[in-house]
Amino acid sequence: MAGSPRVGVLALQGDVREHARVLEGLGAAVTLVRRPEELAEVDGLVLPGGESTVIEKLARAFGLAEPVRTAIAEGMPVYGTCAGLILLADTVLDGAEDQQSFGGLDVVVRRNAFGRQTESFETSLEIEGFDAPVDATFIRAPLIDSVGPRARAIGSLPDGGVVAVEQGVLLGTSFHPEVAGEDRFHRRFLAHVRAR
Ligand code: GLN
Repeated sequence: MAGSPRVGVLALQGDVREHARVLEGLGAAVTLVRRPEELAEVDGLVLPGGESTVIEKLARAFGLAEPVRTAIAEGMPVYGTCAGLILLADTVLDGAEDQQSFGGLDVVVRRNAFGRQTESFETSLEIEGFDAPVDATFIRAPLIDSVGPRARAIGSLPDGGVVAVEQGVLLGTSFHPEVAGEDRFHRRFLAHVRAR
């Protein structure tokens, strides 16, 4: 597989397979990352949706939290969706007691920001750098409360709520593009991996 970017999907909980499928469809060699040795084999990492409190606890239990933090700090490209965005955010609001994030992305996210009435919904969104809108699926999604100076909003809801951000090689979305077969965020992530 010469020339295939080697990327990982953090595979502790959540919609791991959906991300692996999209990445493989784009020609990447995918490792499901559960141990530090597997993280060491990859040049980029996807943090899937799921339950951020569970993923974060398991990451600590598996000895992965510190290695992931270090990899991000050393410039590894990462794409976080939904719970993965929460894990990538520097600051988490409405987290569980003692909830930690890996951090790296200069944003404040609020968990479960859409309330009970709108636990899940789909909408079409314009994203900076894409020439056609994205079908975005939100499932108990977080909202990006504020974007710090190092990050940049690349997608917002009609009311102005930020739901997609980029900061160098870090990419985060509140929604799940992979459930609708949308692959442009994964392409953008793989472009960061290839460029490194
Ligand atoms: N509400 C979840 C959390 O706080 C995220 C939901 C998702 O990833 N679809 O982790």
